[in-house]
Amino acid sequence: MSEDLISPIFLVLTAPSGAGKSTLIRMLRAEFPAFVYSVSCTTRAPRGQEVDGVAYHFLTDEAFNEKVAAGMFLEHAVVHGHQYGTLRSAVEEPMRKGCSILLDIDVAGAAQVREIVSKEPEGSLLKQAFYDVFIDIPDLEELRARLIKRAEDRPEVIEKRLANAQGERARRGEFSAIVVNDDLDRAYAELRELVLRKTNG
Ligand code: 5GP
Repeated sequence: MSEDLISPIFLVLTAPSGAGKSTLIRMLRAEFPAFVYSVSCTTRAPRGQEVDGVAYHFLTDEAFNEKVAAGMFLEHAVVHGHQYGTLRSAVEEPMRKGCSILLDIDVAGAAQVREIVSKEPEGSLLKQAFYDVFIDIPDLEELRARLIKRAEDRPEVIEKRLANAQGERARRGEFSAIVVNDDLDRAYAELRELVLRKTNG
């Protein structure tokens, strides 16, 4: 069943890779079709069935850097050796129309967005709507097992993601809420409850 979002919410979701964030985002978007999903730009290559313009806008380093120089990104960061960025237009246009927005970004990007939001005047729509959630894993060994099972990355890439996960988890206290994905259905129930509580004011 699809639910309405009563007041707009600017939801930022962050997680170490393999924490199940993509699945939670799929569930959230299915239940709350009002969310406008911000399609990020990245310089990494497409994986599996990923479609350009849907999963990401896949760019060359040169094209990405041009957008940086033109000030087109709300935030951008290097994650696992590749550049990622949220286009200002992906947030500002839907926000102006009073839509709810969903961003899937890393801890560094979330910190940049938080900083921008903190400078907004008290009572601004952006400030009222902003809500950042860290999706956590129960422990690192479980994450290792999940990444191996997912079989999308080479062993050295998995080790790099695990090292990054440690750094990301160290910053989870910066978020408004933490949802531990120990069980998908339980974690989703908690996340949707947080979203509903925020949108219901
Ligand atoms: P993946 O390559 O596995 O799709 O994503 C790797 C990481 O990059 C994830 O943690 C994801 O949240 C993050 N990411 C995706 N898009 C953006 C973005 O626009 N900005 C930032 N800062 N991180 C992003």
